[in-house]
Amino acid sequence: SEKDAALAAAAAPVPSDSPTIFDKIINKEIPSNVVYEDDKVLAFRDINPQAPTHIVIIPKVKDGLSGLSKAEERHCEILGRLMYTAKLVAKQEGLDDGFRIVINDGPNGCMFALCSCHDSFEERELWLSAKRVKDHHRETYCAIVMLSGSFVGQSVYHIHVHLLGGRQMNWPPG
Ligand code: 5GP
Repeated sequence: SEKDAALAAAAAPVPSDSPTIFDKIINKEIPSNVVYEDDKVLAFRDINPQAPTHIVIIPKVKDGLSGLSKAEERHCEILGRLMYTAKLVAKQEGLDDGFRIVINDGPNGCMFALCSCHDSFEERELWLSAKRVKDHHRETYCAIVMLSGSFVGQSVYHIHVHLLGGRQMNWPPG
């Protein structure tokens, strides 16, 4: 069934250079609402926004950076560029009263509801197969996906900075 296939895909470990849905966005194979682009980075509107302004900023070349926990010294330049791009885009978006940046990492990094963004099975499977779920998290993960339609953890294993603004942010972030 679709559910069994998705869960099997979610449980399979993937190397940090495996393609994700963000490669399709970079290659313009699927549409996105790009707000900033240069030779190194791409910034586009999140398909499931958590604030009036919610933008995802990614490096065009992943170079093993599936998440921040995979960072090596050689990534310092691109990591700095992602931060600097967040500042540029915040300015461009008129977030003069402030904003938040977020990087979710790994299974504990985030938990959110299944969005309508991947309603085609192919897209959802690509998204799921890019997840790497550790053994001790797998049971909980599968239970949550099945019972509530929620994903646990970083959901796209291509490093990305979330830029959120346009409302008062809360602390603790939840
Ligand atoms: P994270 O991995 O940090 O949990 O979040 C990944 C983010 O990427 C989510 O906020 C999700 O809504 C967004 N996202 C996932 N797939 C797509 C897509 O196909 N298009 C766009 N614009 N955003 C996406």
